[in-house]
Amino acid sequence: MTARGLSLMSGGLDSQLAVKVLQLAGAEVEGVCFSTPFFDCTSARKAATALGIKLHVIDFTDDEIKLIENPPHGFGGAMNPCIDCHATMIKRAGELMAKLGYDFVATGEVMGQRPMSQNKQALGVVEKSSGMKGRLVRPLSAKLLEPTIPELEGRLDREQFLDISGRSRERQIKLAEELGVKDYPSPAGGCKLTEDGFSRKLRDLMEHEGLGNRELVDLLLTARRFRLPGGTSVILGRDRNDNALLKTKAHLGTLLSPVNCPGPTALIPARLESIPPADLLLAQRLVAAYSRGDRLPGDIELNLGAVPGPYDRTLFKDFQIC
Ligand code: SF4
Repeated sequence: MTARGLSLMSGGLDSQLAVKVLQLAGAEVEGVCFSTPFFDCTSARKAATALGIKLHVIDFTDDEIKLIENPPHGFGGAMNPCIDCHATMIKRAGELMAKLGYDFVATGEVMGQRPMSQNKQALGVVEKSSGMKGRLVRPLSAKLLEPTIPELEGRLDREQFLDISGRSRERQIKLAEELGVKDYPSPAGGCKLTEDGFSRKLRDLMEHEGLGNRELVDLLLTARRFRLPGGTSVILGRDRNDNALLKTKAHLGTLLSPVNCPGPTALIPARLESIPPADLLLAQRLVAAYSRGDRLPGDIELNLGAVPGPYDRTLFKDFQIC
């Protein structure tokens, strides 16, 4: 009987190759992509269309936030809890596998490709923590690993699997040519949690307001961030789109914007009466400093009143998170 499985899809080269190799090994494969505010499924959708396979999209935000708050195996270079994130994705894919009555979950992991999260020990940890022992297939490195249950049952042809290891992409690029995989994004990038600047904003939010409010988490993807000395957060629009978005978030706190000149909108995620007065004054000065009111004969006026100068952005450098 044909083995049926779900293969984790980022849309990157390795995940596309994994599908192709599984198909050569005789499997029927569908893709699974995990969507969060930090990682979307655009590339995976494109890849699934090119491969002609069905893609299941699972909202992974609650899982990811719990892992960021408490990563059992720690973070990678930034706020990326890769080992636990991967294990949890595989666990969720395993739940879907059981629901659909399929036989395995696969990934495009390559042994030794990422020193922290894809060494032999980490691959073992992921398999164990995901609860998918024997049902987790890594076709690109399978010949370096123990055979899985569908291989032992003869339902996946192990001979088609590969023994790729290490950081070089040479074999994958050659294989892509052979298997007709033409369109794939560069290996770097994709997940915001691996970026230093984004991680600074995320850590700041986690340590102050917490990660419980999904709208505040989503706002990490936009605008500049400042943390004032009294603990107040200021989310400052960078352009029209940011400003328009922030205006729709008035229910999250207090909005500031200039009324007698063009300038940014800022959101303070706190009720007006709870903002320390010194921070409120600083926040108004900050908005004024980023406004275009320098040629006005008098003070810049915001929705909360006139703001006396100086309107100097450099005064806020030390408070800027990102
Ligand atoms: S790079 Fe991001 S999405 Fe990928 S395993 Fe790491 S934390 Fe998860």
